Amino acid sequence: MTHVAIVGCGIVGAAIAYELSEIPGLSVTVFDRQPPAQASTGAALGVLMGAISQKTRGNNLRLRRLSIERYNAWIPALEAATGQAIRFNRQGILRLCFEGEDLARWQQLAAVRQTQGWPIEILDCAQLTADYPQLNLEQVTAAIYSPCDRQVDPTALTLALVAAAAQKGVTFQFDTIVTGIPPMERITPPSESAVQRCQSVETSVGLQSIDWLVIAAGLGSTPLTAALQQPVDIRPVLGQAAQVKLHSPLGKSTLQPVITGDDVHIVPLGQGEYWVGATVEFPTGTTAATPSGPAFDAVMYKAIAFCPALADATIVRTWSGLRPRPEGRPAPIVERLPGYENVLLATGHYRNGVLLAPATAVKIRQMIDGDVLNDKTVAP
Ligand SMILES: Cc1cc2nc3c(=O)[nH]c(=O)nc-3n(C[C@H](O)[C@H](O)[C@H](O)COP(=O)(O)OP(=O)(O)OC[C@H]3O[C@@H](n4cnc5c(N)ncnc54)[C@H](O)[C@@H]3O)c2cc1C
Repeated sequence: MTHVAIVGCGIVGAAIAYELSEIPGLSVTVFDRQPPAQASTGAALGVLMGAISQKTRGNNLRLRRLSIERYNAWIPALEAATGQAIRFNRQGILRLCFEGEDLARWQQLAAVRQTQGWPIEILDCAQLTADYPQLNLEQVTAAIYSPCDRQVDPTALTLALVAAAAQKGVTFQFDTIVTGIPPMERITPPSESAVQRCQSVETSVGLQSIDWLVIAAGLGSTPLTAALQQPVDIRPVLGQAAQVKLHSPLGKSTLQPVITGDDVHIVPLGQGEYWVGATVEFPTGTTAATPSGPAFDAVMYKAIAFCPALADATIVRTWSGLRPRPEGRPAPIVERLPGYENVLLATGHYRNGVLLAPATAVKIRQMIDGDVLNDKTVAP
Protein backbone atom coordinates (compact mmCIF):
# COMPACT_ATOMS: atom_id res chain seq x y z
CA MET A 1 0.00 0.00 0.00
CA THR A 2 1.29 3.46 -0.92
CA HIS A 3 0.43 6.16 1.63
CA VAL A 4 -0.43 9.63 0.37
CA ALA A 5 -0.95 12.55 2.76
CA ILE A 6 -2.69 15.65 1.45
CA VAL A 7 -2.43 18.81 3.53
CA GLY A 8 -5.45 21.06 3.00
CA CYS A 9 -9.08 20.35 2.29
CA GLY A 10 -10.12 23.35 0.26
CA ILE A 11 -11.33 22.72 -3.25
CA VAL A 12 -7.83 21.76 -4.41
CA GLY A 13 -7.10 19.15 -1.73
CA ALA A 14 -10.64 17.73 -1.99
CA ALA A 15 -10.40 17.43 -5.79
CA ILE A 16 -7.04 15.66 -5.49
CA ALA A 17 -8.44 13.27 -2.87
CA TYR A 18 -11.38 12.42 -5.13
CA GLU A 19 -9.14 11.88 -8.15
CA LEU A 20 -6.69 9.72 -6.18
CA SER A 21 -9.52 7.65 -4.70
CA GLU A 22 -9.77 5.98 -8.10
CA ILE A 23 -6.24 4.56 -7.99
CA PRO A 24 -6.12 1.04 -6.54
CA GLY A 25 -3.41 0.44 -3.96
CA LEU A 26 -3.33 3.97 -2.60
CA SER A 27 -4.14 4.84 0.97
CA VAL A 28 -5.03 8.54 1.03
CA THR A 29 -5.36 10.73 4.14
CA VAL A 30 -6.37 14.38 3.99
CA PHE A 31 -5.49 16.67 6.89
CA ASP A 32 -7.01 20.04 7.54
CA ARG A 33 -6.78 22.28 10.56
CA GLN A 34 -10.45 23.20 9.99
CA PRO A 35 -13.54 21.54 8.52
CA PRO A 36 -13.56 21.44 4.68
CA ALA A 37 -14.01 24.54 2.48
CA GLN A 38 -13.42 27.11 5.20
CA ALA A 39 -10.51 29.16 3.88
CA SER A 40 -10.29 30.71 0.40
CA THR A 41 -12.67 28.11 -1.02
CA GLY A 42 -15.43 29.10 1.38
CA ALA A 43 -15.30 32.68 0.07
CA ALA A 44 -15.13 31.89 -3.66
CA LEU A 45 -17.82 32.73 -6.18
CA GLY A 46 -17.13 29.61 -8.25
CA VAL A 47 -17.03 31.38 -11.60
CA LEU A 48 -15.31 29.10 -14.12
CA MET A 49 -13.85 31.27 -16.89
CA GLY A 50 -12.48 28.92 -19.52
CA ALA A 51 -13.32 29.84 -23.11
CA ILE A 52 -13.84 33.47 -22.14
CA SER A 53 -10.25 33.93 -20.94
CA GLN A 54 -7.98 35.81 -23.36
CA LYS A 55 -5.53 32.90 -23.51
CA THR A 56 -5.44 31.30 -26.94
CA ARG A 57 -2.94 28.48 -26.31
CA GLY A 58 -0.54 27.03 -23.77
CA ASN A 59 -0.69 25.05 -20.57
CA ASN A 60 -3.01 27.38 -18.67
CA LEU A 61 -5.63 27.21 -21.43
CA ARG A 62 -5.35 23.40 -21.53
CA LEU A 63 -5.88 23.26 -17.75
CA ARG A 64 -8.95 25.51 -18.03
CA ARG A 65 -10.52 23.40 -20.72
CA LEU A 66 -9.74 20.10 -19.03
CA SER A 67 -11.26 21.41 -15.80
CA ILE A 68 -14.53 22.52 -17.35
CA GLU A 69 -14.84 19.20 -19.20
CA ARG A 70 -14.23 17.40 -15.91
CA TYR A 71 -16.83 19.48 -14.10
CA ASN A 72 -19.44 18.61 -16.73
CA ALA A 73 -18.80 14.95 -15.89
CA TRP A 74 -18.06 15.30 -12.18
CA ILE A 75 -21.15 17.19 -11.08
CA PRO A 76 -23.74 14.56 -12.12
CA ALA A 77 -21.45 11.78 -10.89
CA LEU A 78 -20.99 13.48 -7.51
CA GLU A 79 -24.70 14.18 -7.15
CA ALA A 80 -25.48 10.55 -7.91
CA ALA A 81 -22.81 9.23 -5.54
CA THR A 82 -23.67 11.48 -2.60
CA GLY A 83 -27.33 12.36 -3.08
CA GLN A 84 -26.30 15.99 -2.50
CA ALA A 85 -27.40 18.68 -4.98
CA ILE A 86 -24.61 20.94 -6.24
CA ARG A 87 -25.64 24.26 -7.75
CA PHE A 88 -24.00 24.27 -11.19
CA ASN A 89 -24.94 27.01 -13.65
CA ARG A 90 -24.73 25.71 -17.24
CA GLN A 91 -26.04 28.96 -18.77
CA GLY A 92 -22.57 30.29 -19.45
CA ILE A 93 -20.94 33.64 -18.76
CA LEU A 94 -21.79 37.01 -20.28
CA ARG A 95 -18.89 39.48 -20.16
CA LEU A 96 -19.66 43.12 -20.89
CA CYS A 97 -17.27 45.24 -22.97
CA PHE A 98 -17.09 48.92 -22.12
CA GLU A 99 -16.14 52.01 -24.13
CA GLY A 100 -12.39 52.11 -24.68
CA GLU A 101 -12.01 48.32 -24.68
CA ASP A 102 -10.43 46.73 -27.72
CA LEU A 103 -13.32 44.77 -29.23
CA ALA A 104 -11.07 43.57 -32.07
CA ARG A 105 -9.20 41.37 -29.56
CA TRP A 106 -12.45 39.64 -28.69
CA GLN A 107 -13.36 39.23 -32.35
CA GLN A 108 -9.98 37.56 -32.93
CA LEU A 109 -10.52 35.37 -29.89
CA ALA A 110 -13.96 34.36 -31.17
CA ALA A 111 -12.37 33.23 -34.45
CA VAL A 112 -9.72 31.21 -32.58
CA ARG A 113 -12.27 29.62 -30.27
CA GLN A 114 -14.34 28.63 -33.31
CA THR A 115 -11.38 26.61 -34.64
CA GLN A 116 -10.91 25.12 -31.15
CA GLY A 117 -14.50 23.91 -31.06
CA TRP A 118 -15.06 26.03 -27.95
CA PRO A 119 -17.30 28.82 -29.26
CA ILE A 120 -17.90 32.26 -27.85
CA GLU A 121 -20.30 34.80 -29.38
CA ILE A 122 -20.15 38.56 -29.65
CA LEU A 123 -23.48 40.23 -28.90
CA ASP A 124 -24.23 43.79 -29.99
CA CYS A 125 -26.26 46.24 -27.92
CA ALA A 126 -29.51 45.45 -29.76
CA GLN A 127 -29.22 41.77 -28.80
CA LEU A 128 -28.25 42.72 -25.26
CA THR A 129 -31.27 45.00 -24.90
CA ALA A 130 -33.56 42.21 -26.07
CA ASP A 131 -32.08 39.43 -23.94
CA TYR A 132 -30.87 41.32 -20.87
CA PRO A 133 -33.29 44.18 -20.19
CA GLN A 134 -31.83 44.52 -16.68
CA LEU A 135 -28.59 45.99 -18.06
CA ASN A 136 -27.75 49.67 -18.36
CA LEU A 137 -25.83 49.81 -21.65
CA GLU A 138 -24.79 53.48 -21.55
CA GLN A 139 -21.07 52.67 -21.33
CA VAL A 140 -21.34 49.21 -22.91
CA THR A 141 -20.33 48.63 -26.52
CA ALA A 142 -20.93 44.87 -26.81
CA ALA A 143 -20.67 41.66 -24.80
CA ILE A 144 -19.00 38.28 -25.11
CA TYR A 145 -21.21 35.31 -24.39
CA SER A 146 -19.46 32.08 -23.54
CA PRO A 147 -22.03 29.25 -23.43
CA CYS A 148 -19.49 26.56 -22.43
CA ASP A 149 -18.26 28.31 -19.29
CA ARG A 150 -19.83 27.51 -15.95
CA GLN A 151 -20.32 28.50 -12.32
CA VAL A 152 -20.45 26.13 -9.38
CA ASP A 153 -21.13 26.44 -5.65
CA PRO A 154 -17.60 25.92 -4.27
CA THR A 155 -18.64 24.81 -0.78
CA ALA A 156 -21.28 22.30 -1.93
CA LEU A 157 -18.81 20.98 -4.48
CA THR A 158 -16.02 20.55 -1.92
CA LEU A 159 -18.34 18.78 0.53
CA ALA A 160 -19.53 16.44 -2.22
CA LEU A 161 -15.95 15.65 -3.26
CA VAL A 162 -15.14 14.84 0.36
CA ALA A 163 -18.20 12.60 0.73
CA ALA A 164 -17.55 10.79 -2.56
CA ALA A 165 -13.85 10.32 -1.80
CA ALA A 166 -14.69 9.03 1.69
CA GLN A 167 -17.04 6.47 0.13
CA LYS A 168 -14.06 5.22 -1.85
CA GLY A 169 -11.86 4.82 1.20
CA VAL A 170 -10.12 8.19 1.60
CA THR A 171 -9.59 9.16 5.26
CA PHE A 172 -10.26 12.76 6.28
CA GLN A 173 -8.82 14.14 9.49
CA PHE A 174 -10.27 17.55 10.16
CA ASP A 175 -9.27 19.80 13.05
CA THR A 176 -5.81 18.32 12.59
CA ILE A 177 -2.85 20.60 11.93
CA VAL A 178 0.20 19.41 10.05
CA THR A 179 2.75 20.92 12.40
CA GLY A 180 5.99 19.87 10.78
CA ILE A 181 7.94 17.52 8.62
CA PRO A 182 10.65 15.57 10.45
CA PRO A 183 14.24 15.47 9.17
CA MET A 184 14.58 13.74 5.84
CA GLU A 185 16.44 10.67 4.83
CA ARG A 186 18.97 11.79 2.25
CA ILE A 187 18.91 9.33 -0.61
CA THR A 188 21.88 10.64 -2.53
CA PRO A 189 25.36 11.47 -1.23
CA PRO A 190 25.63 15.15 -0.28
CA SER A 191 28.21 15.64 -3.05
CA GLU A 192 25.63 14.79 -5.70
CA SER A 193 22.62 16.93 -6.48
CA ALA A 194 20.65 16.26 -3.34
CA VAL A 195 17.20 14.72 -3.71
CA GLN A 196 15.51 14.07 -0.43
CA ARG A 197 12.62 11.95 0.60
CA CYS A 198 9.97 12.76 3.12
CA GLN A 199 8.94 9.77 5.23
CA SER A 200 6.44 11.17 7.67
CA VAL A 201 4.50 14.22 8.73
CA GLU A 202 3.92 15.46 12.25
CA THR A 203 0.37 16.36 13.02
CA SER A 204 -1.41 17.67 16.09
CA VAL A 205 -2.61 14.09 16.69
CA GLY A 206 0.66 12.29 16.03
CA LEU A 207 3.13 11.15 13.42
CA GLN A 208 1.91 9.75 10.11
CA SER A 209 4.19 7.79 7.80
CA ILE A 210 3.87 8.59 4.14
CA ASP A 211 5.17 7.71 0.70
CA TRP A 212 3.89 10.94 -0.85
CA LEU A 213 3.11 14.36 0.56
CA VAL A 214 0.82 16.69 -1.39
CA ILE A 215 0.84 20.28 -0.13
CA ALA A 216 -2.53 21.77 -1.08
CA ALA A 217 -2.59 24.12 1.86
CA GLY A 218 -3.20 27.45 0.13
CA LEU A 219 -1.65 30.18 2.25
CA GLY A 220 -0.50 27.48 4.69
CA SER A 221 1.86 26.18 2.00
CA THR A 222 4.49 28.82 2.78
CA PRO A 223 5.33 27.67 6.34
CA LEU A 224 5.21 24.00 5.32
CA THR A 225 7.63 24.49 2.45
CA ALA A 226 9.80 26.70 4.65
CA ALA A 227 10.05 23.77 7.06
CA LEU A 228 11.48 21.79 4.15
CA GLN A 229 14.01 24.58 3.44
CA GLN A 230 12.32 25.30 0.08
CA PRO A 231 9.97 28.18 0.93
CA VAL A 232 7.29 28.89 -1.64
CA ASP A 233 6.10 32.45 -1.13
CA ILE A 234 2.29 32.60 -1.29
CA ARG A 235 0.68 35.95 -0.40
CA PRO A 236 -2.92 36.78 0.59
CA VAL A 237 -5.08 38.83 -1.79
CA LEU A 238 -8.28 39.90 -0.09
CA GLY A 239 -11.66 39.47 -1.76
CA GLN A 240 -14.95 40.86 -0.38
CA ALA A 241 -18.33 39.83 -1.73
CA ALA A 242 -22.03 39.89 -0.88
CA GLN A 243 -25.22 37.92 -1.31
CA VAL A 244 -28.16 40.14 -2.23
CA LYS A 245 -31.89 39.59 -2.66
CA LEU A 246 -34.35 41.19 -5.05
CA HIS A 247 -38.12 40.76 -5.20
CA SER A 248 -37.85 39.07 -8.59
CA PRO A 249 -35.03 37.75 -10.80
CA LEU A 250 -33.07 40.22 -12.90
CA GLY A 251 -34.08 40.15 -16.56
CA LYS A 252 -35.61 37.04 -18.10
CA SER A 253 -35.96 34.32 -15.50
CA THR A 254 -35.06 31.68 -18.09
CA LEU A 255 -31.81 33.39 -19.08
CA GLN A 256 -29.54 33.64 -16.07
CA PRO A 257 -25.85 33.34 -16.97
CA VAL A 258 -23.18 34.84 -14.73
CA ILE A 259 -22.81 38.47 -15.82
CA THR A 260 -19.36 40.01 -15.53
CA GLY A 261 -18.54 43.67 -16.05
CA ASP A 262 -15.61 45.79 -14.92
CA ASP A 263 -14.16 42.72 -13.13
CA VAL A 264 -17.29 42.33 -11.01
CA HIS A 265 -19.39 39.16 -11.19
CA ILE A 266 -23.15 38.94 -10.68
CA VAL A 267 -23.84 35.28 -9.97
CA PRO A 268 -27.47 34.11 -10.04
CA LEU A 269 -28.47 31.77 -7.20
CA GLY A 270 -32.20 31.47 -7.96
CA GLN A 271 -35.24 32.99 -6.19
CA GLY A 272 -34.03 36.53 -6.94
CA GLU A 273 -30.78 36.04 -5.01
CA TYR A 274 -27.32 36.83 -6.36
CA TRP A 275 -23.68 36.86 -5.30
CA VAL A 276 -21.92 40.10 -6.18
CA GLY A 277 -18.14 40.40 -6.01
CA ALA A 278 -15.36 40.52 -5.47
CA THR A 279 -12.73 43.06 -4.48
CA VAL A 280 -9.11 42.32 -5.37
CA GLU A 281 -7.03 43.88 -2.59
CA PHE A 282 -3.30 43.28 -2.50
CA PRO A 283 -1.33 42.81 0.71
CA THR A 284 1.30 45.13 2.09
CA GLY A 285 4.32 42.87 2.00
CA THR A 286 3.04 39.66 3.49
CA THR A 287 0.31 41.37 5.56
CA ALA A 288 -3.20 40.89 4.20
CA ALA A 289 -5.47 43.85 3.60
CA THR A 290 -8.34 44.09 6.08
CA PRO A 291 -11.96 44.15 4.90
CA SER A 292 -13.27 47.70 4.65
CA GLY A 293 -16.51 49.37 3.69
CA PRO A 294 -15.15 51.64 0.93
CA ALA A 295 -13.52 48.81 -1.07
CA PHE A 296 -16.67 46.71 -0.83
CA ASP A 297 -18.88 49.69 -1.72
CA ALA A 298 -16.77 50.30 -4.84
CA VAL A 299 -17.65 46.81 -6.08
CA MET A 300 -21.35 47.36 -5.42
CA TYR A 301 -21.24 50.72 -7.26
CA LYS A 302 -19.62 49.07 -10.28
CA ALA A 303 -22.31 46.37 -10.32
CA ILE A 304 -25.12 48.92 -9.92
CA ALA A 305 -23.65 51.00 -12.78
CA PHE A 306 -24.35 48.22 -15.30
CA CYS A 307 -27.24 46.59 -13.44
CA PRO A 308 -29.23 49.42 -11.78
CA ALA A 309 -31.87 47.16 -10.20
CA LEU A 310 -29.22 46.04 -7.70
CA ALA A 311 -29.55 49.46 -6.04
CA ASP A 312 -32.85 48.19 -4.55
CA ALA A 313 -31.45 44.86 -3.40
CA THR A 314 -31.28 43.83 0.22
CA ILE A 315 -27.87 42.68 1.34
CA VAL A 316 -28.38 39.24 2.87
CA ARG A 317 -24.77 38.74 3.97
CA THR A 318 -21.26 39.88 3.23
CA TRP A 319 -18.01 37.97 3.59
CA SER A 320 -14.37 38.05 2.70
CA GLY A 321 -11.58 35.61 1.99
CA LEU A 322 -7.90 35.53 1.12
CA ARG A 323 -6.80 34.24 -2.27
CA PRO A 324 -3.46 32.39 -2.25
CA ARG A 325 -1.29 34.20 -4.82
CA PRO A 326 2.27 33.07 -5.64
CA GLU A 327 4.71 35.97 -5.31
CA GLY A 328 6.77 36.66 -8.42
CA ARG A 329 5.59 33.71 -10.47
CA PRO A 330 2.46 32.65 -12.33
CA ALA A 331 -0.43 30.87 -10.65
CA PRO A 332 -0.95 28.02 -9.98
CA ILE A 333 2.02 25.97 -8.73
CA VAL A 334 1.52 22.30 -9.52
CA GLU A 335 4.88 20.55 -9.50
CA ARG A 336 7.38 18.60 -7.41
CA LEU A 337 8.94 20.60 -4.60
CA PRO A 338 12.51 21.16 -5.78
CA GLY A 339 14.95 18.87 -3.99
CA TYR A 340 12.32 16.32 -2.95
CA GLU A 341 11.29 13.28 -4.89
CA ASN A 342 7.99 12.68 -3.12
CA VAL A 343 6.67 16.13 -2.14
CA LEU A 344 4.20 17.65 -4.58
CA LEU A 345 2.88 21.20 -4.59
CA ALA A 346 -0.70 21.95 -5.60
CA THR A 347 -1.02 25.49 -4.44
CA GLY A 348 -1.09 29.19 -5.28
CA HIS A 349 -4.24 29.05 -7.41
CA TYR A 350 -4.97 32.73 -6.70
CA ARG A 351 -8.18 33.77 -8.54
CA ASN A 352 -8.88 30.46 -10.28
CA GLY A 353 -8.61 27.69 -7.73
CA VAL A 354 -12.15 26.46 -8.21
CA LEU A 355 -11.75 26.57 -11.97
CA LEU A 356 -8.41 24.76 -12.01
CA ALA A 357 -8.98 22.20 -9.23
CA PRO A 358 -9.94 19.27 -11.52
CA ALA A 359 -6.96 19.77 -13.86
CA THR A 360 -4.68 20.14 -10.84
CA ALA A 361 -6.01 16.85 -9.48
CA VAL A 362 -5.40 15.12 -12.81
CA LYS A 363 -1.82 16.39 -12.92
CA ILE A 364 -1.12 15.25 -9.34
CA ARG A 365 -2.65 11.87 -10.14
CA GLN A 366 -0.38 11.52 -13.18
CA MET A 367 2.69 12.32 -11.07
CA ILE A 368 1.77 9.79 -8.38
CA ASP A 369 0.24 7.17 -10.62
CA GLY A 370 3.25 7.21 -12.95
CA ASP A 371 5.55 6.50 -10.06
CA VAL A 372 3.27 3.87 -8.52
CA LEU A 373 3.18 2.12 -11.89
CA ASN A 374 6.98 2.34 -12.03
CA ASP A 375 7.01 0.89 -8.51
CA LYS A 376 9.28 3.67 -7.29
CA THR A 377 7.50 4.36 -4.05
CA VAL A 378 6.46 0.93 -2.90
CA ALA A 379 8.87 -0.45 -0.33
CA PRO A 380 10.56 -3.70 -1.41
C1 LIG B 1 -13.83 36.45 -2.69
C2 LIG B 1 -13.22 35.37 -3.54
C3 LIG B 1 -13.79 35.02 -4.75
C4 LIG B 1 -13.24 34.02 -5.53
N1 LIG B 1 -13.87 33.66 -6.68
C5 LIG B 1 -13.37 32.65 -7.43
C6 LIG B 1 -14.03 32.25 -8.61
O1 LIG B 1 -15.06 32.82 -8.98
N2 LIG B 1 -13.51 31.22 -9.34
C7 LIG B 1 -12.37 30.57 -8.94
O2 LIG B 1 -11.93 29.63 -9.63
N3 LIG B 1 -11.70 30.95 -7.81
C8 LIG B 1 -12.18 31.97 -7.07
N4 LIG B 1 -11.52 32.38 -5.94
C9 LIG B 1 -10.21 31.78 -5.65
C10 LIG B 1 -10.36 30.44 -4.96
O3 LIG B 1 -11.16 30.63 -3.83
C11 LIG B 1 -8.98 29.89 -4.55
O4 LIG B 1 -8.10 29.89 -5.63
C12 LIG B 1 -9.16 28.43 -4.05
O5 LIG B 1 -10.17 28.35 -3.09
C13 LIG B 1 -7.88 27.88 -3.48
O6 LIG B 1 -8.18 26.61 -2.97
P1 LIG B 1 -7.17 25.82 -2.05
O7 LIG B 1 -7.79 24.51 -1.76
O8 LIG B 1 -5.82 25.84 -2.69
O9 LIG B 1 -6.99 26.73 -0.76
P2 LIG B 1 -7.95 26.96 0.55
O10 LIG B 1 -9.38 26.91 0.17
O11 LIG B 1 -7.42 28.18 1.16
O12 LIG B 1 -7.64 25.69 1.42
C14 LIG B 1 -6.39 25.47 2.04
C15 LIG B 1 -6.66 24.63 3.27
O13 LIG B 1 -5.41 24.24 3.85
C16 LIG B 1 -5.60 24.19 5.24
N5 LIG B 1 -4.27 24.25 5.87
C17 LIG B 1 -3.33 25.18 5.67
N6 LIG B 1 -2.22 24.89 6.39
C18 LIG B 1 -2.49 23.74 7.06
C19 LIG B 1 -1.75 22.93 7.98
N7 LIG B 1 -0.49 23.23 8.35
N8 LIG B 1 -2.34 21.82 8.48
C20 LIG B 1 -3.59 21.50 8.13
N9 LIG B 1 -4.36 22.23 7.28
C21 LIG B 1 -3.79 23.33 6.74
C22 LIG B 1 -6.49 25.37 5.54
O14 LIG B 1 -7.17 25.20 6.78
C23 LIG B 1 -7.43 25.37 4.34
O15 LIG B 1 -8.63 24.67 4.61
C24 LIG B 1 -12.05 33.37 -5.12
C25 LIG B 1 -11.48 33.70 -3.89
C26 LIG B 1 -12.04 34.71 -3.10
C27 LIG B 1 -11.40 35.03 -1.78
